[in-house]
Amino acid sequence: MPAADQPSEKMKFQLTLRQRGISDQAVLRAMEDVPREVFVMSDDRDRAYRDTALPIDCGQTISQPFVVAYMTEQLQLKPQHRVLEIGTGSGYQAAVLSRLARDVVTVERFRTLADAAKQRLAKLGCDRVDVQVGDGLSADLPLGQFDRVMVTAALETIPAALIDRLARDGVLVAPVGPPHGIQTLRRLRLTAAGQEVKDLLDVRFVPALAGLARET
Ligand code: SAH
Repeated sequence: MPAADQPSEKMKFQLTLRQRGISDQAVLRAMEDVPREVFVMSDDRDRAYRDTALPIDCGQTISQPFVVAYMTEQLQLKPQHRVLEIGTGSGYQAAVLSRLARDVVTVERFRTLADAAKQRLAKLGCDRVDVQVGDGLSADLPLGQFDRVMVTAALETIPAALIDRLARDGVLVAPVGPPHGIQTLRRLRLTAAGQEVKDLLDVRFVPALAGLARET
């Protein structure tokens, strides 16, 4: 039986998120609504509701559900928000964000991943997500400004070009640290006085890389 049809799997999934401290009801509902089994590789479908990261194509990973929920909660989304995600991967995080915000633009440097994510999101009716192929860190992408920015690949430092994408009172959440080590999830908020930065949690993400991926 596919994981989604096993009520106990999904109940455990919700329980784990709550036990680990996710308390925002809208975030919990979004996590419940988005079928993670659609975003993992077919061999991993029976593991889709475990609280672990899993491999996806192009040597990348779909994040651990707790980390997806936690980063989403830390963005403090409002229904009118415009959100930028850098690192589409499977499209799972973008699907969760789209349940809570007005528009999501998500950028991926692998065309293969972007195309697959686009198809999945269309099938699920996530029509508020715009998947773009590109280097999400590049200042040249004509994307405009966002109320919220989430980076789901590890940065060594937060580039100024990314902070410039934030609208007034904007919030950015990103893993910051060494590319293949333990990083810190950092939240940056624009305030009247400047920037307020808070380190939240140790995490491990695949590195953010510059430029489009060369695919064979
Ligand atoms: N959020 C994803 C998981 C992200 S894995 C999900 O829900 O499945 C990190 C992704 O970031 C990888 O797919 C990687 O190719 C992408 N990435 C890394 N550097 C990037 C960059 N500069 N611009 C866009 N995408 C990038």
